[in-house]
Amino acid sequence: MTSVAFPAKSRPAAIPVRQVLPWAIFGGLLLMLAIYFVGAEEGATSLIRGMYVHEFVHDGRHLLGFPCH
Ligand SMILES: [Zn+2]
Repeated sequence: MTSVAFPAKSRPAAIPVRQVLPWAIFGGLLLMLAIYFVGAEEGATSLIRGMYVHEFVHDGRHLLGFPCH
């Protein structure tokens, strides 16, 4: 077995939570919106008329196991 020597300055940089938190919230909101459109954009909970969004995300809907038909 070989040993690998890392230089002393190769420690990971610390990222403050205050800098990450707004991006984490923004990403979480986008994720929730995507989950809504894939999982619940149909019938009574539909925001957009017609079946366009439902048909567009139909394969993703089945891939994620949301009930459909
Ligand atoms: Zn389906």
